[in-house]
Amino acid sequence: MSIVVLVGDGMSDRRVSILGDRTPLQYSRNRNMCLISKLGENGIIDPISPGVTPGSDTAHIALLGYDPFEIYTGRGVLEALGSGISLKRGDIAFRCNFCTLDEKGVIVDRRAGRIREDGEILAKSLDGIRISGVKIKFKQALAHRCVLVLRGKKISHEVTDTDPKRVGVKPLIPKGRGEDGERTAEILREFLNIAKETLSEHPVNKERIRKGLPPANFILLRGASFLPEVQKFKERFGVNGACIAGMSLVKGVARLLGLDVVEVEGATGGLDTDVLSKADATISSLDKYDFVLVNVKGTDEASHDGKVFEKVNMIEKIDLLLGRILEEKGIEELTIAVTADHTTPLEVKKHTGDPVPVAIYSKSARRDSTRLFDEISCSSGSIGRISGKNLLPIMFNLEGIGEEFGE
Ligand code: ZN
Ligand code: ZN
Repeated sequence: MSIVVLVGDGMSDRRVSILGDRTPLQYSRNRNMCLISKLGENGIIDPISPGVTPGSDTAHIALLGYDPFEIYTGRGVLEALGSGISLKRGDIAFRCNFCTLDEKGVIVDRRAGRIREDGEILAKSLDGIRISGVKIKFKQALAHRCVLVLRGKKISHEVTDTDPKRVGVKPLIPKGRGEDGERTAEILREFLNIAKETLSEHPVNKERIRKGLPPANFILLRGASFLPEVQKFKERFGVNGACIAGMSLVKGVARLLGLDVVEVEGATGGLDTDVLSKADATISSLDKYDFVLVNVKGTDEASHDGKVFEKVNMIEKIDLLLGRILEEKGIEELTIAVTADHTTPLEVKKHTGDPVPVAIYSKSARRDSTRLFDEISCSSGSIGRISGKNLLPIMFNLEGIGEEFGE
């Protein structure tokens, strides 16, 4: 079995005026995507449900066949799993940023100058602290982004964020709800005091100040969440799966659902990501796994920045990735879908609730009259309009997987 879902992150769009009112998919040369459309069946997907704006996390949960309303508990656990921290039931995880405070304690940079290498040593200085019997893990995820995990008894995710999401104000004080939430907030307040002291005294930060760089002298917390109970992918579908992604959030979703994460050299999650090495990783993973989800993030990044031609360029790169997979594996050997996890219109620069196009090829798939892969052409295909969580069952059915419902 070789089942592939290729996700262009935020690849779906609306019409763009400087592209002559076409969408980037309509404008770009996406020959291989169009081949899937031409030889297969097409439709549009509401990743979550019609008009609901998806995050990359909830959208991937749905595209992997799960109901995000049932298992999504917040971003903290996904960031933790994505950055390679193993979690136990009862752990509370947060996503955090290193930030820079001035001498009055006011935030002057929410990302501490997008600190990179220095972050690892600073994160280590906060890792392993114990407060009131609760063990604290702290790890750098990527650049200024970090993960905080609390492990112990009587703790809860019912605590407020400390990130005011703007500069010029002081960080918020964490507050808890309920007895365990209160205790957790108290532990956090103590931890944040220790963090402030440790970080501002740290030689790495003193060196940063000497070099004229903003010191990472505090942290901002958000997205408190707990590990939900989830039926593993293999158990649920009887299929061995893996995920290839640059973004830790998507890796976190994969690990939560019990998929293996295949790390790829050069997969940065940015516009410079090496798409062909992702294609090669997909091809080699198919020797070992029945199912592979590949996410390419660059299209979303270009959309958030409103960079029209970078998005077009990235779509064409994703098309090359697809071309390599088709060429190496042979299209007849594959059940493959091309889609996006959400729409990120270049002219809006944020995710929106518009549906996304999907094209599925399989030897057993019906062939509809759609010839082109884009938002409009796919909408007249035979799949019609489905929900994100319907995608995998449709693909598994084409592969002959799944049991009869009733008799
Ligand atoms: Zn996304
Ligand atoms: Zn996005």
